[in-house]
Amino acid sequence: MENLGKLIDGKKIAGEIREELKKEVERFKKEGREPGLTVILVGDNPASQTYVKFKEKAAQEIGIRSQIIRMDKEISQEELMGEIARLNQDKQVDGILVQLPLPDHLDEKEVIEAIDPSKDVDGFHPINTGRLFNGQDDAVRFEACTPLGIMELLDREGIEIDGKKAVVVGRSNIVGKPIAHLLLSRHATVTICHSHTPDLAGETLQADILVAAVGRPKLIKGDMVKEGATVIDVGINRVDGHLVGDVDFEAAKKKAGYITPVPGGVGPMTIAMLMKNTLKAREYHGV
Ligand code: NAD
Repeated sequence: MENLGKLIDGKKIAGEIREELKKEVERFKKEGREPGLTVILVGDNPASQTYVKFKEKAAQEIGIRSQIIRMDKEISQEELMGEIARLNQDKQVDGILVQLPLPDHLDEKEVIEAIDPSKDVDGFHPINTGRLFNGQDDAVRFEACTPLGIMELLDREGIEIDGKKAVVVGRSNIVGKPIAHLLLSRHATVTICHSHTPDLAGETLQADILVAAVGRPKLIKGDMVKEGATVIDVGINRVDGHLVGDVDFEAAKKKAGYITPVPGGVGPMTIAMLMKNTLKAREYHGV
């Protein structure tokens, strides 16, 4: 088969998207108000601090007014809920993102449900996941950033989804389930695999589009990939100081038609989609 192992360059595509969004931000500014994103960071988890910095940098680069609210790790549920209620009312704030995970004593579910669904740029509120599940795109709906980024990669590479067989490995609320629904909404035949799937290779070998979102280094071997398939590796695993995906990249790229690298594949798209969602919220809220 021709064209095996074409790299999907998420870093490059995310850069192009940021350039497009910059122009949209200019338009919003001319209308009288730039989009606003507020990130709440509770405690001092080093990974969360890094993610929040990346988000702030991306927002600043494209001209979104961003703010990080840092809260002490001992903060009470009431104080955090109070802050969210205040941000829900603030007309300058289009997007509210609570960086997860929260310290154990806080109720994550209650916090997410307190965010105004029209400001839920992470797409985790049950109103937004419910609208995705129901296939409702008539009302404003926010989709989780990583799955949204995967769809954008597929579309920008011109990869056909309609009528194709998609296999998603992993069933988390933030990646596996929403990407399965997005693919389903675009008329793929979707199989979701997880830790209790008896014959994983038997499933993955049927995939025209294979999405791995597990968190196990190189779980997907070359011989688990159908020739010519599109392989999307969501996994971020640190092994001996290096980042590796859930796919054995070197082996899989010999079989795949298209493949995302780690790093530089899905990762950069996640933040670009957070920016896109913030602009969508601004459009919805008006000036
Ligand atoms: P999770 O731990 O919430 O879910 C993992 C899923 O994998 C579970 O549904 C589980 O059933 C399944 N699983 C576990 N072992 C399995 C096995 N042997 N065979 C088949 N399925 C198995 O993880 P998550 O939050 O969905 O994240 C998955 C990976 O994606 C992680 O490496 C995470 O760091 C990464 N991630 C990357 C981005 C990004 O921006 N690129 C965003 C979110 C998550």
